[in-house]
Amino acid sequence: MNHHYCPLCFAEIPIGVENCPACGRNIEAWERQTPYYDRLIWALKNPHSEVRMGAILSLANQNHAEAAGPLAECAMSYPVDVIQGLAVIRAIKNVPDSPEKVSALQGLSHHAAHAVRVAAEEALNTSTSLRLA
Ligand SMILES: [Zn+2]
Repeated sequence: MNHHYCPLCFAEIPIGVENCPACGRNIEAWERQTPYYDRLIWALKNPHSEVRMGAILSLANQNHAEAAGPLAECAMSYPVDVIQGLAVIRAIKNVPDSPEKVSALQGLSHHAAHAVRVAAEEALNTSTSLRLA
């Protein structure tokens, strides 16, 4: 099933509409004016898991240390979604080392899912620079 959602209010919308029927905003203008990174961070709040997963996988390739916090928050908001939680850990492992990365992984070491907790602890332990941070 291929759904299309408003990137602003997350309502399901027909493909190709210029203004969202739900929130009335001009989608094309928003996409043009908002940096890609900011749109990915906003998409982490999307209630549709496939949209969040797309944003997580894209952020894994963005090299933004400050993405670690929003990524961790996304994983913690969905305690039963193990697949998403593990994707978040992989994405955070990719971002540059930083205090925010450490605190994101420390937060995720308290995730409801055991597999996510283990992956977070492994990520913390495998990097010497993170351990010393
Ligand atoms: Zn909308």
